[in-house]
Amino acid sequence: MGSLLSQILEQVRSYWGFDALRPLQEEAIQASLDGRDSVVVMPTGGGKSLCYQVPPLLSDSTHVVVSPLISLMKDQVDGLLTCGYPAAAIHSGHTPAENAETFQNLRDGHLRLIFVSPERLLTSSFLRLARELDIRSFAIDEAHCISQWGHDFRPEYRQLALLKQDFPKASVHAYTATATQRVREDIAVQLQLENPAMLVGVFDRPNLTYRIVPRTDVYAQTVEVLRRHKNEGAIVYCLSRKDTEAMAAALRKAGVNAASYHAGLDAKHRLRTQEAFANESLDVVAATVAFGMGIDRSNVRCVLHATMPKSVDHYQQETGRAGRDGLEAECVLFYSAADPIRWKALIAKSAAEADASAEVVAAHQQLIEQVRRYCSAPQCRHRALSEHFGQKFPKDDCEACDVCLNETEGVEDATETAQKILSNIARMERMSGFAFGVAHTADVLTGANTEAVRKRGHDQVTTYGLLKGTPKQSIKNLIYQLVDQELLSQSLDDRPVLALNRASWEVMRGERRVQLVRPPSQEIKKTRAGEISWDGVDEGLFGQLRTLRSKIAEKQHVPAFVVFGDRTLRELARNRPTTENNFRKIHGVGNAKWEKYGRQFLNEVVSCCERHDLSTNSFNNARDQATPVMRATESPAKVAAFSLFEKGASVDKVATSLDRAKTTVFGYLGEFVASTQPASIEKWISKAHYEAVAHAACEVDSKLLKPIYEHLNESVSYGEIRLVLAHLETCGESE
Ligand code: ADP
Repeated sequence: MGSLLSQILEQVRSYWGFDALRPLQEEAIQASLDGRDSVVVMPTGGGKSLCYQVPPLLSDSTHVVVSPLISLMKDQVDGLLTCGYPAAAIHSGHTPAENAETFQNLRDGHLRLIFVSPERLLTSSFLRLARELDIRSFAIDEAHCISQWGHDFRPEYRQLALLKQDFPKASVHAYTATATQRVREDIAVQLQLENPAMLVGVFDRPNLTYRIVPRTDVYAQTVEVLRRHKNEGAIVYCLSRKDTEAMAAALRKAGVNAASYHAGLDAKHRLRTQEAFANESLDVVAATVAFGMGIDRSNVRCVLHATMPKSVDHYQQETGRAGRDGLEAECVLFYSAADPIRWKALIAKSAAEADASAEVVAAHQQLIEQVRRYCSAPQCRHRALSEHFGQKFPKDDCEACDVCLNETEGVEDATETAQKILSNIARMERMSGFAFGVAHTADVLTGANTEAVRKRGHDQVTTYGLLKGTPKQSIKNLIYQLVDQELLSQSLDDRPVLALNRASWEVMRGERRVQLVRPPSQEIKKTRAGEISWDGVDEGLFGQLRTLRSKIAEKQHVPAFVVFGDRTLRELARNRPTTENNFRKIHGVGNAKWEKYGRQFLNEVVSCCERHDLSTNSFNNARDQATPVMRATESPAKVAAFSLFEKGASVDKVATSLDRAKTTVFGYLGEFVASTQPASIEKWISKAHYEAVAHAACEVDSKLLKPIYEHLNESVSYGEIRLVLAHLETCGESE
């Protein structure tokens, strides 16, 4: 294994208790250590923080992190301190004396990271100190705030452009989850980065299961989904402030522990809700998009959208708040074809009020169109999202969306049903001389005996009651699907009415076939996709550990996930270690956390196992089974990788199934090859690359990676070079 990687892993293991790096983390850390500017784009939960947390440990220097919100800084610093990592933040939430103490600690060289807001960074006192300390690296978190093309533009970020001028020897590293190319490029330009390393991660989040469900009764549907997530963190995004309050009230009535959150509530109230959600005394927040950037609870297991969001980018950001810990989570969007119509009307209204240009309005309308297509097309949601962000999706079946899980059920006689709906619309209009809305149309089709139906004489049209027996909500839904597919038009005003268009007549004449989806009737089982499943986890013990975690978090005024993440608790409840040695092998148990919390959690495991007669120290599922060549102390990820290599799995496959960086997997493979000494490694590298590396190693007469890499004009990756060298070594050929 290359020495830099092992140095990084040593720190990562000892501070955070992680066994391997995530994709692009090594490259991002390398850029920082090399002093090369960078733009690092990873999806939410991708692990950006680690990229700026590790370098100052290795270079033994102090780096600055610019962060837009006090709550974000606070959570990060709390998290770092529990890992024993020396970090602090300077902000207005601290007293002047506390900030002065931090300044002193900085001067004394006690801190590796200092978090500040952009405004604070650019004060003369902080700039003076930064010069005095000769700061060589600035990390800009949530860097898309600098771009007016981003969705969280903050004018104060603009002044960060001065950094490169004021600190010519320092490198600047921008971190964002924003996926659009335009914003990425704008970040580099605005920050005046010099030849930045552009590190763009994969946007797909395999641990999220996406579902788009036709909206019928949003409260009942939300309650049904939340039942699958009892005692778990969930966010329900609603369109308006009023909607969030109505949703929270409906949820509470149904016995769900929920609160609302929106920008109209006073700051104290919002903070209380945010803290309750973070320390897990509150499970569900019904919120507008104002509940966003400061929320980094890592174990949100469900994100719901009560209506369609206003762009695919917003959807990616909002759903990205689910499952940041890498464990499975569910994202459900309740969609109605009325949503895009409502959005377009809202855009037109606010454009008129703000006197916006036609160009701006058209750009917004286009975003609505994109998200409408995303919601209404019955295609793999993971694929559609990846492609939206310009990335290929490698699988045919994601196994983690309603479409691939075959949950969407087609209406058998869809064309005939569509003809009934359309001809009913035609007849009503012919009789009355004007058009009607969705609800009345559905009433007539279902044969309802309402005053409006009788008054208009619509119980006399031949299509009256043609869909008798189908619930009104379902008929409304089918009508919206026709609007969605543009087989029927709906006006854009306050009281939208339905109108037939050319496609409607084609359907009625039988020239066009129609496909419709039935609102799901069968109960959806909770899909537990994701890297680490619940297999073997004793859920009773998990619950006990969770309660212990909440108690500690509350006492120490830190978010629960800062104590231990869900993944750690699940591994504890699966493997049930009762010795210090075994406990410290668990993911997320670094040295400081063991010292701080280890005993309490260990005691809980021991007593629960005794009470319920559970087996202990059972490192016995597939991920934990040691292959013969492994030592008992090896990390679960490495053990799993070895067993996959034994079955001939490719590097890509292992990287995907273990959610590890390819470089890390090559490292494992090098070790696997060294210990199993296979005659050939053709399964993992082409013959041409093998021979090229072997030849280059002779030519440059070195076993160092860099000279070989350069000799080969950077045409073979470091990972492959490392692998060939490991194999040559086993053949005794590299000496
Ligand atoms: P982002 O800022 O990209 O949204 P974070 O930095 O908050 O993501 O990381 C998300 C979660 O992943 C955190 O709980 C973090 O501790 C965890 N994490 C980061 N890197 C690794 C790693 N190499 N192995 C395991 N977990 C990691």
